[in-house]
Amino acid sequence: MDNATNVCPVCHQAVSAEYYFCPNCGNNLKEKPKAISALIQIGLYALAIFLPPLGLWPGIKYVIKKSPQAKRVGLITIVLTLISTVLTVWLIFSLFNDYLNQMNGALYGL
Ligand SMILES: [Zn+2]
Repeated sequence: MDNATNVCPVCHQAVSAEYYFCPNCGNNLKEKPKAISALIQIGLYALAIFLPPLGLWPGIKYVIKKSPQAKRVGLITIVLTLISTVLTVWLIFSLFNDYLNQMNGALYGL
């Protein structure tokens, strides 16, 4: 067997060697899907929290993967990115409001 294609042992369809599950019958083709290390997960979540827009793309890349763990990691990354984006926007607006209030205070408060 070559590296590019395997044959599903259940339904004997040719499948890509990258697949964890047979697209034809759903059989698990690899005993252990490559686990995402804790370090990579922490890195992704940190990226999502601290640099919100940058977490979105790797999150989507993980969500479309076959492995359930990758999907979960991708979903968590996207959710964290969205929460962080909302918080960042809210923080900027709130700081901007404070600034405007101070300006108003300085202009009209005396
Ligand atoms: Zn199959």
